[in-house]
Amino acid sequence: MINIAIDGPSASGKSTIAKRLAKDLGYTHIDTGAMYRAVAYECIRQNVDLEDEVACFEVAMKTEIELSPEGSIFVNGEDVSNNIRTDEVSQGASKVSKFARIRELLVAKQRKMAEKKGFVMDGRDITSVVLPDAEIKIFQTADVTVRAQRRFEELTKKGFDVEFDTLYKELVDRDYRDMNREESPLIKVEDAIEIDTTYLSVDEIVALIKKYIESR
Ligand code: C5P
Repeated sequence: MINIAIDGPSASGKSTIAKRLAKDLGYTHIDTGAMYRAVAYECIRQNVDLEDEVACFEVAMKTEIELSPEGSIFVNGEDVSNNIRTDEVSQGASKVSKFARIRELLVAKQRKMAEKKGFVMDGRDITSVVLPDAEIKIFQTADVTVRAQRRFEELTKKGFDVEFDTLYKELVDRDYRDMNREESPLIKVEDAIEIDTTYLSVDEIVALIKKYIESR
């Protein structure tokens, strides 16, 4: 067994691909974005200022985050799988994730979770910081309009009332913050393969990655 690390900008389809790969290979998927979302969700719920590092860190320390093998996210025992997908929480996650202390806390948890092999982990700093020794590293991208469209369809399907233009703008803002922050910015590491998914279906991307794994 090996570990597979996937990074890339927002809505590039990382979690969809990670989930499918994990299912096909009999591995476990870890969605690290959901963990930053869980912290942001809890800060918002407690009316904590998202620019206040100390207060957000305190919330993060006291928040119990659990990822079920089926892909549900629990915060202090409550299933928040849908609650953490709102625009407000997306923006919040990208704000609290710039704080070094919060990153340290979650990175330690993530490393512990993937201590043994057999994980597909996706996020922004998995190939660079969390699992730099992962056997397979992927940098997954897609054109920004296509990414906004995918996110729009995903959220609309879940019953969220969202506007495409707002989503597009928020995606661009979030990418900018994630790529330009001081702590573990989103980067493509040298030994990662880049997959541009703009014109590829999920099946095609999964097939491509499996082929790459076999070639290694
Ligand atoms: O992947 P997702 O869009 O759910 O991530 C939400 C936010 O959490 C990202 O915009 C990013 O700011 C942050 N994040 C991070 N490091 C990770 C995963 C997510 O900073 N490994």
